[in-house]
Amino acid sequence: MTGLVAHLDLDAFFASVELSRRPELKGMPVIVAGSGPRAVVTTASYEARLFGIGSAMPAARAKRLCPEAVVIAPNSAAYREVSRAVMEIIAAHIDRFEQLGIDEAFLDLEGLHSPKAAMRRLVAEIYEQTSMRASIGIGPNRLVAKVASDAEKPNGFVVLTAEQARKRFADAPVSLVPGIGPRTNERLGEMAITTLAQLRAADERSLIERFGARQGPALIALASFDGSAEVVTDREAVSESRETTFDQDISSGDELEGELKRLAAELAEALQRNNRSGRTIRIKVRLDDWTTVTRAKTISALTNDYATIIEVATALLREYGPQRPVRLVGVGVTGFTPARERDQLELPLELPAA
Ligand SMILES: [Mg+2]
Repeated sequence: MTGLVAHLDLDAFFASVELSRRPELKGMPVIVAGSGPRAVVTTASYEARLFGIGSAMPAARAKRLCPEAVVIAPNSAAYREVSRAVMEIIAAHIDRFEQLGIDEAFLDLEGLHSPKAAMRRLVAEIYEQTSMRASIGIGPNRLVAKVASDAEKPNGFVVLTAEQARKRFADAPVSLVPGIGPRTNERLGEMAITTLAQLRAADERSLIERFGARQGPALIALASFDGSAEVVTDREAVSESRETTFDQDISSGDELEGELKRLAAELAEALQRNNRSGRTIRIKVRLDDWTTVTRAKTISALTNDYATIIEVATALLREYGPQRPVRLVGVGVTGFTPARERDQLELPLELPAA
């Protein structure tokens, strides 16, 4: 079964949110951690990582490694808000996506006309609107996409087939692959299997003897970068849009804005009638050569108000400034109710009790 999946992962998310709130800290080693005796580092900026500081490390140890690091207490509300804005931008561009944690998601790219260009635009837009950098991995399944997004962080953009992933990570430790934890890693080590190439070439019967009839073959599949491309949408999307295809392509900016106004009025009325609202306003423009462009902006409050929608949509259209006659124009509003927000976005701020 083939598919095309992207994994989007925000870079040093909590630290990046703090840096966007306090630009004077740019370039300094910043760690986000609580202050209790059991506090752990939730994120370290890339400057702090140079000192060997990483996520889940006890904060006390991080401070020993880099005494000059600026330690900031986690602000979950701020992270949730930025996370939500990012996910809404994704929702405005991609129909099917699955949020994994506060700062990552799988995106179903199957059927997209130019998936790489779409991901470049998405990342640029996330940065423009939230100042968060994201790394993207694209592959035939979730496994390849996830490993690819991690391969060149920060600001990574890595596209791999399963075969390319097998080659590129042949000598990587087996623990590179999500799904092979410390315990399995250790047991594989006892069989003298330390790299992914070794695991892929391992004798299946020995693996079955050691790990059982299910996990044995599953380990070889992981090392082969075989996996599922399924992306499960777990939220109720609010997405309402209106668009017009013109009988004759339009070159006049005034005419285009006039049509946008008409569509926005219709859209606002439909949203109000159904008592729905969203925070991301997007426009869609198709040129006479069939290039299709979407632009979106996420605002701070939910809206279904005509004046707000048309103001943002017009600004987006002017900013884009179509360079060719336009065949189609559309406007939409997107938002959603996260289904599992509370469970998913719980922040690991402390070491688990011993
Ligand atoms: Mg991340």
